[in-house]
Amino acid sequence: MIKIDENKCVGCGLCAGQHPESFQMNLDGKAEVINDQETPGTQKAISDCPAGAISSVK
Ligand code: SF4
Repeated sequence: MIKIDENKCVGCGLCAGQHPESFQMNLDGKAEVINDQETPGTQKAISDCPAGAISSVK
């Protein structure tokens, strides 16, 4: 499954903008996971996140 570390997220919006099926921005300006299934899109989001806040966990 996919997780976001809110303490690391800098709120850039990249993951939610590019992969809205998996992520959205919450009212605190942080990204949150709305579908924790791993996909090619979530893999890209992990590698693209500038803060290293997205991770794949078992
Ligand atoms: S790409 Fe990373 S830093 Fe940017 S909103 Fe998503 S989790 Fe936060």
